[in-house]
Amino acid sequence: MGLVDYHVHTPLCGHAHGEPAAYVARAIDAGLSEIGFSDHAPLPAGLREGITMLPEETERYLAMIEGVRDEFRGRMPVRIGFEVDYPLHDTFDRRYLTDPRIDYLMGSCHFVDGWAFDHPDGLDEYNRRDVDEVYAAYYGTLARLADAGCFDIVGHFDLVKKFGHRATRDHHDRIRPVLAALARAGTAVEISTAGLRKPVGEIYPAPDIVALLFEMNVPITLGSDAHAPEEVAYEFARAVALVRRAGFRRQSRFEKRTRHDIEL
Ligand code: ZN
Ligand code: FE
Ligand code: FE
Ligand code: ZN
Repeated sequence: MGLVDYHVHTPLCGHAHGEPAAYVARAIDAGLSEIGFSDHAPLPAGLREGITMLPEETERYLAMIEGVRDEFRGRMPVRIGFEVDYPLHDTFDRRYLTDPRIDYLMGSCHFVDGWAFDHPDGLDEYNRRDVDEVYAAYYGTLARLADAGCFDIVGHFDLVKKFGHRATRDHHDRIRPVLAALARAGTAVEISTAGLRKPVGEIYPAPDIVALLFEMNVPITLGSDAHAPEEVAYEFARAVALVRRAGFRRQSRFEKRTRHDIEL
């Protein structure tokens, strides 16, 4: 079907398994047109254990993905990216923000005021907070991420719903300015099937936000957030059905930090 999967990990992060070549082989089996690796960029000590590679492993990561790209040349295009936490940390060398070896940077928000809200260990905190305030803080961070302008893709746009904590009102007043900034910059939003494997049981982002993406001319790309080879292209037929229903006929691919829109 010619889809891209731009969100897959490697064992370097400490919570994914399978060699990169196995992910690419799975992409071929699934009939994808491209696969892109976006492993977790290094977080500071104290936050990164079991979550991201070490700062001194970034070059090894790039060499590893370049190796698999060369191995599969002519059979499956392999793109090189990072999933970068926003706010940025000094443990991810700023030179990677403009490194010509990198095809795309995915900006993701996994923390609101230092709380890893998407980590099972932090679940209790939801009981101590007002859910709408959590959503507001999350979208406030995404607004700054969008304004930072250093990313090509925003990962799992409404990750804050991961464990099924639903806002009691809609947050479109906070989401619209984020999408306007992304549309202006030509930054894509990831349609992520990872949410289907989580308690929320729903694609990121939700259908009402996918409708806003189309209405506001925000480009989209596809990601499975695979942490194992068999998760590559996970439930992509459902992602395609969701975005086509909203009106989308194009998906974005990235090469050397340039976006190209191709048929969906
Ligand atoms: Zn991960
Ligand atoms: Fe993530
Ligand atoms: Fe990821
Ligand atoms: Zn991710």
